Amino acid sequence: MNFLEEKIITDGKIFDENILKVDGFLNHQIDMDIMRQIACEFKRRFKGDHVDKILTIEASGIAVAVMLANMYDVPVVFAKKNATVNSTDDKYMSEAYSFTQKKMNNIFVSKPYLKEGECILIIDDFLADGQAASALIDIVNQAKAKVVGIGVAIEKGQQKGGKILREKGFHVESLAIIDSMNTETQTVFFRRQ
Ligand code: 5GP
Repeated sequence: MNFLEEKIITDGKIFDENILKVDGFLNHQIDMDIMRQIACEFKRRFKGDHVDKILTIEASGIAVAVMLANMYDVPVVFAKKNATVNSTDDKYMSEAYSFTQKKMNNIFVSKPYLKEGECILIIDDFLADGQAASALIDIVNQAKAKVVGIGVAIEKGQQKGGKILREKGFHVESLAIIDSMNTETQTVFFRRQ
């Protein structure tokens, strides 16, 4: 078992409807030691790939993305979910159904922050049905930039996102892949990697 799988076992809580709560170290309180290890592991797994920028989606992807971007010394761009009055730039827009919020989110990135030809590494906390990752890929494509890889801390392998993205040829790296979870016994089973 790797460091993240161990942390999920000790601190994660399983809720009905297939939701894993990791508020104690990733989604609410952020454990810096775990974050450093996550960033190091992504850097190792995407070794050899040139990365100009890291792209994520607010809010929970930002912490992971920032830790990793610090190692590459590149900017982080995060897709926003709500247009505010001061977001007057032209935007690349897409939409993603949120598995946890049970609603469609319109997401956008202002055009100046993604440029044609840039090599983009997409990072997020979870991969479930692949809605968030697909919307980010759509935005990268609109900018005529290139997705060099997709890194997620926790993939829920019982949902279809990882399979779809890998079948499309994307280099997907998930540090912990959950095969199944049992709400009653609070047990998590991981896929061997
Ligand atoms: P997807 O877009 O791949 O269907 O779902 C990924 C997004 O939904 C992530 O950005 C994450 O915020 C959220 N998500 C999906 N499943 C879970 C889960 O089991 N636990 C938590 N905490 N977030 C999840």
